[in-house]
Amino acid sequence: MKFRLAIRCLTTVLLAGFFTVGQAQENPVQFQTIKLSDQVYMLRGRGGNVGISAGTDGVFIIDDQVAPITSELQAAIAKVSQQPIRFVINTHYHGDHTGGNEAIGATGAVIVAHDKVHQRMSTDQFNNFWNETTPAYPKGALPVVSFSERVTLHLNGEAATVYHVPNAHTDGDGIVHFPRSNVIHMGDLYFNGLYPFVDLDGGGTVQGMIAGVKLGLSLANEDTKIIPGHGPLSTTAELKTYCDFLVRATANVQALVDQGASLEAAIEARPTADWDESLGKVWITPAQWVTFIYNSLTGKTTYTRIDANQ
Ligand SMILES: [Zn+2]
Repeated sequence: MKFRLAIRCLTTVLLAGFFTVGQAQENPVQFQTIKLSDQVYMLRGRGGNVGISAGTDGVFIIDDQVAPITSELQAAIAKVSQQPIRFVINTHYHGDHTGGNEAIGATGAVIVAHDKVHQRMSTDQFNNFWNETTPAYPKGALPVVSFSERVTLHLNGEAATVYHVPNAHTDGDGIVHFPRSNVIHMGDLYFNGLYPFVDLDGGGTVQGMIAGVKLGLSLANEDTKIIPGHGPLSTTAELKTYCDFLVRATANVQALVDQGASLEAAIEARPTADWDESLGKVWITPAQWVTFIYNSLTGKTTYTRIDANQ
């Protein structure tokens, strides 16, 4: 589907250069595993970045990439630990973070996510950004345990806590804090090196994204290792810079909203010009990014498709 295809294309661009989608599908996925503490790892492959906790109590993972590469993903995780995966935490409902749920769930792993993740994966989702409907997932791919505010896994010698962030990248986001390992997985609240996707049709808002990034920063110290949803491993200092960018870009668009500018006029005014070269060339365009902010600030709960965004 277009949604998953585009995400695959995005991750291929980020990881392997500029392939067409056709070439990308033939290309074997290259996994990169980075050890962040005695027991926590970040794994990059095709889709959202995966977090792994592997220790004396077993293995649990955060997100499981796209469905077609699940067997390769399982093999890459097995290189870290051969123990079975006991839990999968989904940071949100998108198919590039939940694609492995069905196959990994079938091996006995318990899927854990926010209530809204369960709700959205259980039903067909029309999304105006993609102009497409993603059908409901099969039962085996759905979270078995869902939570409303936070949930903590007491495994491998630390209390890993998933904090729900309301209406951020979506309405079901969780960020995961490993206090002893000093690692935070930000899910798609953090796109490192590119403009973020704000899923307005999925309950996302820029204001919620800023609040979630500030929550992440409040849990961090200067040595914290930050796993972004997409892009390379990051640091607290870089997350602060990203937070400042979100705040300033949003303020620039707010000024235009306050002047009564239409969405088209706001895009035309280039309120994000400071970052368009560095962040707006890879995937989300400056016009799309301004639309996310403008619609968030004006309370629109859907993406607006206009000529400049096609
Ligand atoms: Zn996402």
